[in-house]
Amino acid sequence: MSRSVVDKISELRARRKAVVLAHNYQPPEVQDLADFCGDSLGLSVQASRTQAEVIVFCGVRFMAETAAILCPDKVVLLPDPEAGCPMADMITAAQLRQLKAQHPGAIVVCYVNSTAEVKAESDTCCTSANAVDLVRSLPKDRQIVFVPDQNLGQYTAEQTGRDLVLWPGYCRSHVLITEDDIRAAKARYPDAVVMVHPECTEAVRGLADQVLSTGQMLRFVRQSKAKRFIVGTEIGILHALNKENPDAQYIPASDRAVCPNMKRITLDKVLWALEDMQVQVTIPKDIAAQARKSLQRMTEVVPSYAKG
Ligand code: SF4
Repeated sequence: MSRSVVDKISELRARRKAVVLAHNYQPPEVQDLADFCGDSLGLSVQASRTQAEVIVFCGVRFMAETAAILCPDKVVLLPDPEAGCPMADMITAAQLRQLKAQHPGAIVVCYVNSTAEVKAESDTCCTSANAVDLVRSLPKDRQIVFVPDQNLGQYTAEQTGRDLVLWPGYCRSHVLITEDDIRAAKARYPDAVVMVHPECTEAVRGLADQVLSTGQMLRFVRQSKAKRFIVGTEIGILHALNKENPDAQYIPASDRAVCPNMKRITLDKVLWALEDMQVQVTIPKDIAAQARKSLQRMTEVVPSYAKG
């Protein structure tokens, strides 16, 4: 890691009154530089509470958009404007309007991995950390439409016993983790606890001991007596796990579970973002106002580890 880039970022961060937020899937050097690392829910809560004037969001576009919606008076910078989320782009607002027309009266829950326009069309947002609690809190006599991740939706339906209308979206990085990967890792490390993310396929979740968001994985390991974990999510989380609990061993379920969009953020790009105050993420006021209502409910259903 270049010390001079880190020093320049620190100096500019103070001068700009900026806070750097980084997702758990970010490259290690970006996580190390951040003021706060976390999952989508933890980062949304941090963004909504910060006193900083500028938020540098080291993650993908929908995360920076979420921060911009929750903090309309702050400047939100995304260090690489090409860092998108293929899953978020798997449903458009027009497609969601069509789906709503097919299910009149249904409550629409959208995973935070969605565009601002889709959030604005939804009744409430959720993250992988609180989807189950959030759906449990909804009236039992109402149909629920869940977009865009069919795997998180399926998992939420299993856990709540609710019959959700799903959209066929998925995460390209998480579906690369296969049943064979988990079986091979278990055969090699029979004593290891298998933790997988709910964006993994049903077959992979079925082989796991725990299905957890990244924030929940960190908390679970902190409280567990086990010393070896097979980790079924994007490999960036291994850095956070090793940093927090270096005494345990972490085995990635698959080396292919890499999100190329998350890895677009580099220290140089963080520095350029602070130097040029670019690229600013803004959301049209009417869409932001509608999307904010959906996000408010999401940040209310906060598990204790994310309260910060
Ligand atoms: S890991 Fe998957 S869901 Fe997360 S940003 Fe990357 S593509 Fe999107």
